[in-house]
Amino acid sequence: MKTIIGLGASDRVAIEKIHYLQELDLSVEKKKNCKPDIELKKFFDNRDIVLSRLQVSYDKTKVHDEKTAQVFEIHQMMLEDLDYTESVESLITKGYNAEYAVQQTGLKFKQLFESSDNEILQSRAMDVSDITNQMIKAFKGINEHEKAPEGKFILISRDLYPSDIVKFDHNQIAGFVTQYGSKNSHAAILARTLNIPIVVNLGNRFDEIPYFGTMAINGATGEIIINPNKYILGIYKKKIKEAEEYAQLLEKYRNKKAISSDGHHVTIGANIGNLTDIDLVINYDADAVGLFRSEFIYLERNDYPSEEDQFNIYKEVVERLKPRQIIIRTLDIGADKTAGYFHLNKEENPALGYRAIRICLKQPEIFKTQLRALYRASAFGNLAIMIPMITHVEQVLEVKEIIKEVQNELLINHIPFDADLKVGIMIETPAAVMISDLLAKEVDFFSIGTNDLTQYTLAVDRMNTEIEHLFDSTHESIKRMIALTAKNAHDAGIWVGICGESASDLNMIDFYLTHKIDELSVSPSKVLQVKKAIIENHLKNHQDL
Ligand code: PEP
Ligand code: MG
Repeated sequence: MKTIIGLGASDRVAIEKIHYLQELDLSVEKKKNCKPDIELKKFFDNRDIVLSRLQVSYDKTKVHDEKTAQVFEIHQMMLEDLDYTESVESLITKGYNAEYAVQQTGLKFKQLFESSDNEILQSRAMDVSDITNQMIKAFKGINEHEKAPEGKFILISRDLYPSDIVKFDHNQIAGFVTQYGSKNSHAAILARTLNIPIVVNLGNRFDEIPYFGTMAINGATGEIIINPNKYILGIYKKKIKEAEEYAQLLEKYRNKKAISSDGHHVTIGANIGNLTDIDLVINYDADAVGLFRSEFIYLERNDYPSEEDQFNIYKEVVERLKPRQIIIRTLDIGADKTAGYFHLNKEENPALGYRAIRICLKQPEIFKTQLRALYRASAFGNLAIMIPMITHVEQVLEVKEIIKEVQNELLINHIPFDADLKVGIMIETPAAVMISDLLAKEVDFFSIGTNDLTQYTLAVDRMNTEIEHLFDSTHESIKRMIALTAKNAHDAGIWVGICGESASDLNMIDFYLTHKIDELSVSPSKVLQVKKAIIENHLKNHQDL
């Protein structure tokens, strides 16, 4: 028996047999003075092969997992991307062989993505490696049909790409272990969607994993136990049984309203970031979307999304999730979320800098494009908008002025919109909390962003792992901030929700009920747990708190 600790990236446990992903020789030879027309034909022929394999992977995956399927679509787009193709062609016209041109282009684009400040673009580096490997396999005539073992297994690999995963029946995969990779890798995201454990970033200790045997993995703690003894097996089996029983237990909260024992109804919303999350909202039975982080639409692109692009996305969300209320937060870019085409300067203190509403008010043309798309989409469902990072009443007044301009433009052009569209703000700065009585007079609702509120109140950078232990959203100061905000909201007759991570902290539910919080918006997979906690909350005596 041996224990190795990696980085846990999906909190389930599994015990199954070890299965290594087949490692292939994907090295390529560098040849000069080749005939460009022959090499170009080789490139385009093999690209067609890979494109059609990607289509097969897309069709096969889409049936049960739309989110992963989209990755194959992205890979097709990357392969046909003009810059990518031009880079390959330019090396070939210099006399290099097609394999070498593809490998070098892959490396160039990989480095480009890796050097980005944006996490989403960084993860694209993996995608470039994936398409390069696929192209090299096609050049070498390798068409893999990996032979999977019987029954379930834990898939072990140095890196794990979506094209590797799709070779297996998802029902057979009990977990993943990788030498490299991060919590944001596609494999980690897929593991969380499939609700199976993954442990990444094992480093050199990866080589201690034997080729055969059994393995117990814990995706919460990052623990890997090779050939566990009876005692460990017993502990893990118990954990698996408990997780299954818990998932089963949660089923009975589906289709139930979260009403506490003293009759307070809490709307349980989901936090989402793109269209593929719509299925999760439905599957986990969320009552609403309490936070749609619209900046992800911007982060996933290489240029500003057009009004039409945004309109189509917002329209699809509200239409598919009708009659739920969908709160779309306007662009919260800046700080840890940057896109190159915004040309934001590097700042000493980005969290205190040029971000979110500050950008939108200084560059109103970007803001108006988004607002027009949002107002147009409001005609198709129950949409509300929410403004991030408010610190001043004047900001809200300015936003309202811009909204009036947008409404007038739409009216003049006879474009329908919801004239009663609700506009709320995020309470995520101590300033907003302290003037929440004044802000409440100007807006339709508040949503408390405890992530930033904790960062700004405790002066703890939410991105700094050195001081992670000080990042405490249950600190007395945060509780008092929530209590004050809730009181000012209710006194003014508006509702108040929480959409930061601590909305799903089960230890805080009693506190939220005490202060009559109206909505908790959490990640989709937490919806049923929070419903359960509220329904089962037997309040003793809230009045005396
Ligand atoms: C928050 O700050 O709590 C919040 C919900 O917004 P984000 O995490 O996107 O900054
Ligand atoms: Mg925030």
